[in-house]
Amino acid sequence: PQRVLSGVQPSGALHLGNYLGALIKFSRLQHEIPTFIFVADLHAITAWQEPALLAAQTREIAAAYLASGLDPKVAAIFPQSQVRAHAELAWIFNCVARLGWLDRMTQFKEKSGKHKERSSVGLYTYPVLQAADILAYKATQVPVGEDQRQHLELTRDIAAKFNHDYDRPGFFPLPEPMTQGPGARIMSLRDGSAKMSKSDPSDYSRINLTDDADAIAQKVRKARTDPEPLPETLDELAKRPEADNLVGIFAALSGRTKADVLAEFAGKGFGTFKPALADLAVASLGPVTAAMRGFMDDPAQIDAILKDGAERASPIAEATLAEVKKIVGFIGA
Ligand code: ATP
Ligand code: MG
Repeated sequence: PQRVLSGVQPSGALHLGNYLGALIKFSRLQHEIPTFIFVADLHAITAWQEPALLAAQTREIAAAYLASGLDPKVAAIFPQSQVRAHAELAWIFNCVARLGWLDRMTQFKEKSGKHKERSSVGLYTYPVLQAADILAYKATQVPVGEDQRQHLELTRDIAAKFNHDYDRPGFFPLPEPMTQGPGARIMSLRDGSAKMSKSDPSDYSRINLTDDADAIAQKVRKARTDPEPLPETLDELAKRPEADNLVGIFAALSGRTKADVLAEFAGKGFGTFKPALADLAVASLGPVTAAMRGFMDDPAQIDAILKDGAERASPIAEATLAEVKKIVGFIGA
């Protein structure tokens, strides 16, 4: 059977990259394949989170899921910490994954920066917990942004090694990343070589889902660009990361291809393109933002939805965990 699983960390304000790279795919998939979408609170605390803020952000992510079209009667929406099997399975996978595999993870290198010794151990083993998130549901499809491809590869390696070491061919399916489309890698508005991130200290680097029309227009206007008009071809565009990014955002928001957007704007300068992009972003995000605010006005309702989601997700994850424990040789499982 097929299953979809994905999640977003409550580590800061949701941005356009999260929306285009992940969120909008969830609501499309939910009617085709059983879908499990969690709020990754266990992942969020790999970097320090103010407790009251963590709780608020957890509800905000849930509100964004609902606002972007996830139906809690169809998909299971839940906080990761409310399904214990994730953390327990992660321990077993810590003993399957190899240090050499984790040493190659570029996200750890980027996030730990020059302070590797002072990073949490959790930040290092984060991809192992992610493997547990996915494999607890024996998920087959994982809609994520490009930046998660390497972690998905690690999940596949863990699944394959478990199946091999315990001589259970096919016990865990090898999940496929779903990273298609121009929204899969949205870059920072300040730096065309860094992805847009919640954890980027500069708020001008990203468009938040909670930004109002003025903030969106201002951030697009201030986005870093070069002085040249937009080129005719994708090859030329690819040499200009900042311009490429803005055209990519326009394409993703309008459901068009980048080539199609260039056909309209080639030869025009950013004085023309940026206002068009700002208008499009405001028109696309406005309804989502408004719906999100509506859900956030009723935290008790959000908590009830998350609790119900956890109650539906738990038996599935628990069943996998029980099988795994038995396979490993733990008695009483
Ligand atoms: P953090 O900086 O705390 O890691 P983040 O912005 O990377 O936050 P995550 O919660 O780690 O957000 O990722 C949630 C989902 O959003 C993942 O599927 C991830 O691949 C996707 N995503 C994150 N950033 C981008 C981006 N810039 N473009 C497209 N997808 C993205
Ligand atoms: Mg991230």
